Amino acid sequence: MKGFVIALVLAFGPMNAQPQQTNLIPAPVAYSVRPGNVSPSRTAVLDERIRISRRTLLRRLGGRQLTDWQLKSAYWLELGKKGVKIEAADEEGVFYARQTLKMLAALDSPLTCCTILDWPRFRYRGVMLDESRHFQGKDFVMKQLEMMALLKMNRFHFHLVDNPGWRVQIDAYPLLTALTAWRPEAFFWDWEKNEIGGPFVDEGTPGAYGGFYTKQDIADILAFAAERHIEVIPEIEMPGHNYETRAAYPELACSLPGGGKDPWELCPGKESTFEFLEKVLLEIFGMFPSQYIHIGGDEARKNNWKLCPDCQARMKAEGLKSVEELQSYMIRRMERFAHAHGKRIIGWDEILQGGLAPDATVMSWHGIEAGLKAVREGHDVIFTPTHYCYLDYHQDSAQFRPVGRYLPLEKVYSFDPMAASITEADAHHVLGVQGCLWTEHVQEAWHAEMMLYPRVFAIAETGWSQAERKDWPDFERRASVLSAVARRWGYTVFRL
Ligand SMILES: [Zn+2]
Repeated sequence: MKGFVIALVLAFGPMNAQPQQTNLIPAPVAYSVRPGNVSPSRTAVLDERIRISRRTLLRRLGGRQLTDWQLKSAYWLELGKKGVKIEAADEEGVFYARQTLKMLAALDSPLTCCTILDWPRFRYRGVMLDESRHFQGKDFVMKQLEMMALLKMNRFHFHLVDNPGWRVQIDAYPLLTALTAWRPEAFFWDWEKNEIGGPFVDEGTPGAYGGFYTKQDIADILAFAAERHIEVIPEIEMPGHNYETRAAYPELACSLPGGGKDPWELCPGKESTFEFLEKVLLEIFGMFPSQYIHIGGDEARKNNWKLCPDCQARMKAEGLKSVEELQSYMIRRMERFAHAHGKRIIGWDEILQGGLAPDATVMSWHGIEAGLKAVREGHDVIFTPTHYCYLDYHQDSAQFRPVGRYLPLEKVYSFDPMAASITEADAHHVLGVQGCLWTEHVQEAWHAEMMLYPRVFAIAETGWSQAERKDWPDFERRASVLSAVARRWGYTVFRL
């Protein structure tokens, strides 16, 4: 560490011993003030000199060893009275330098001339949006992607399908959207009563609530995200959370003695289930260039698999001793399918039960224990523990529709994905952190934004800033400055 500090001083030249205050979120690795300042209105006309050169950037870094993915995002930025100089190893670093400038121009008037050297701590800095329970649509998503980019976040986890509605066009199975994208009740809990979903209605039915993304909508969102260096990871849930799939294609359910139907899961005993999932995934792969496909895997009840003759026959044929192993069979089989198409799977941490698929990445949401176990077993992990990262939880008991645990900004900010028990050799398996906005209680766009902000600011800083740069009192001050700016831009931000 000492060598690194010396290297930084060499790279920056003499600078003040005291670190200078900046309003930036996420906090950069190194920031130092230069003489002079610039009016925000002048930033657009400043002379900009960009140099993309790995060797030049390495010189700026001194002896510091960065991984390849860190180097790609790293940048050196000098804001002077007459011009801006940016050095980076890749276009991505230039992009992040410009986001920094954009944020400085929004936060400070005048802008203090400065030098910044910066790179991310984690490679996965994400936000998840549940578009099934309540549907916001393309403009809303793009607006949030814009804010994510400003915060140097780079993964958008798109929860597109779930019990209350299938939200993406699939040509091979048109009934998915034709029969389940619309419902009579707008508010989710008016539709789902006693844990049983309600009816769906046709598009155009008076008062119908819902919507879905066409392939063109998805292409528009992906182009918008790609310009901002954000990867969009779609989630197609299996085997649980499939009430809507089953409403459109009842034959994908277990065949139970007496004709009863499981209201919520797909039948892993039937070959037709795999044929369905594979055809759906092929279309999803065609739409989304991400290397990853999120296959859900959470909260499958599995009770009816014990009664279903198809599931029982499958277990016997494959030598599976429990329904957990039957789920694991399904996930492993889908992983082989994903691999055959050059994709890798991510699943919620229940995919650990019954044996983890060999190359799966785990999204640790039941606290961090499942994630730590997966890391020990040599798997990649994204941490999104409910009690730090579930943004549907309330920030104040007096807020609109408060639910779940109390999750104020400070608690979100306090999370460190790199738990003390993770060894240095395993550290590379910790991909990063994600904030999840489930929308059971969140119908209106303003409400969704109020749940996201300012807590997403904290997730962004946890994902990008080095652990030693995190500082709660200073972050609280910066979050309040950025909140005011975000409100000016038309975002609804929860008032601290
Ligand atoms: Zn079955």
